[in-house]
Amino acid sequence: MRKILIVGGGTAGWMTAALFGKLFQGLYDIELVESEAIGTVGVGEATIPAIKKYNELIELDEPEFMRRTNATFKLGVQFVDWWKPGHSYIHGFGVIGQDWEWLRCHHYWLRANQRGRARDFADYSINTAAALAGKFMHARPEMKESPIGHIAYAFQFDATLYAKYLRGLAEQHGVRRTEGKIVDVGMHDSGDIASVTLEDGRKLDADFFIDCSGFRGLLIEQALKTGYDDWTHWLPCDRAIAVPCSRVAPLTPYTRATARDAGWQWRIPLQHRTGNGFVYSSKYIDDDSAEKLLLANLDGEQLANPNRLRFVTGKRRKMWNRNCVAIGLSAGFLEPIESTSIHLVQSSAIRLVQLFPDGATDQSTIDEFNRQTDFEWERVRDFLILHYWANERPGDLWEYCRTMDLPATLRRKVDLWRSNGRIFREDEELFSEESWIEVFLGQGLVPRSHDPLVAIKSDPQIDQFLGNIASTISRCVDVMPAHDEYVGKYCPAEPVA
Ligand SMILES: Cc1cc2nc3c(=O)[nH]c(=O)nc-3n(C[C@H](O)[C@H](O)[C@H](O)COP(=O)(O)OP(=O)(O)OC[C@H]3O[C@@H](n4cnc5c(N)ncnc54)[C@H](O)[C@@H]3O)c2cc1C
Repeated sequence: MRKILIVGGGTAGWMTAALFGKLFQGLYDIELVESEAIGTVGVGEATIPAIKKYNELIELDEPEFMRRTNATFKLGVQFVDWWKPGHSYIHGFGVIGQDWEWLRCHHYWLRANQRGRARDFADYSINTAAALAGKFMHARPEMKESPIGHIAYAFQFDATLYAKYLRGLAEQHGVRRTEGKIVDVGMHDSGDIASVTLEDGRKLDADFFIDCSGFRGLLIEQALKTGYDDWTHWLPCDRAIAVPCSRVAPLTPYTRATARDAGWQWRIPLQHRTGNGFVYSSKYIDDDSAEKLLLANLDGEQLANPNRLRFVTGKRRKMWNRNCVAIGLSAGFLEPIESTSIHLVQSSAIRLVQLFPDGATDQSTIDEFNRQTDFEWERVRDFLILHYWANERPGDLWEYCRTMDLPATLRRKVDLWRSNGRIFREDEELFSEESWIEVFLGQGLVPRSHDPLVAIKSDPQIDQFLGNIASTISRCVDVMPAHDEYVGKYCPAEPVA
């Protein structure tokens, strides 16, 4: 194992290149080939807190990275009109309230709610309360007893600038970049990939290939014919249109997802502009009407031509096939409602480092990589399906989603939750119990009961417990700085040249 070739220089290619360059420290010859003429998908601007693990691994300087990518902080996602028109909630990252005895806070809230004594569930999450108030600050980990010690965050950034920034880091760590369009893939007799040939005739050989070529899956599908599991019957949106608009104040510390008749619209605030997009099902709206709807719902001046995209939700049958691993859009696509794709890039790249072959690839290593990756993708898929299935919206798309059969893995979770509000994180699944709880309740799924041990406490004790949490959070949010102000001091973007 001497030479690794990364095919593609979008977010996936450069994230993988920066990580490999940093961690492998010159052990392998790493080359990345990309084509400026083909370009990148140009979207993918909202992240989840797990990205901080990736940032730590590549020792990224957070304020500098944020300045260079016009980034803002993200405390969660606001879902407008998802359960039903006129209702909104925030899936805030991080903890909700605090445990009491050994029961989760939400069990006490469910009891209070049954008795008509509960406040809004949002009052028990510092992330949600701060997001609604437009506030942000980094957590103070030393303040373990205070909600301030538990603020969780991610980033919203310019996707093109992010790839460019990571390219700089990767090149510093010795990754070589080659410009050129691949027109052919050469194979060994064994069926492994041997090389790629560029338009100008240059041939690039390698021992191991990472396919980051985007939706086209140049190596994993076009060359290796790996096959694809289509999940459109659970996640029926298959198109998107993206368009930036001018920034409007205030700079909200969260991404917004607004449900529409045939899909949903995203809004991602960056320092220099706002990213917008409409994700929809072509079965329920045509492209021109979708574009019109998006443009009619921008909150600033349109800054570029709309970018139309098509996709099939699902994943490759094998993410690792022979001497090739697919990372990014070549591996599959889960729609961006919870901003999970960049995370799936990061976790596949890290998993590959953990399972990197020392020579000829052995099947047990490949199988383990594929088993872990499938598990992660399927659990994320289930979480996304929940947003669509648990709805009381009018319209054909929503009627379809409400009545569709759920995957068995999700059905089990829903049934358990509905009986008495219990939820357990399975192995290393991405989303925490808190995330599931927020989306269950936000989508109107209130369990029939709660943990019976709640009855050990009296109603006044529960009122006092919940009241203390809510008032402490409210006092903390009062003293937090405005998000705009914090960004302006911590990581002001470089002026546009
Ligand atoms: C509508 C939409 C919204 C999204 N929103 C989010 C979000 O908010 N959060 C999130 O985490 N993710 C989001 N994503 C996903 C995110 O955009 C991708 O995961 C991420 O950009 C990775 O893309 P990529 O690098 O795999 O592919 P691409 O950006 O398409 O890059 C492919 C690369 O391969 C190269 N290439 C292709 N063919 C050839 C060839 N023949 N020769 C040479 N080079 C070639 C291209 O030049 C390019 O460099 C979104 C995706 C879509 C479609």
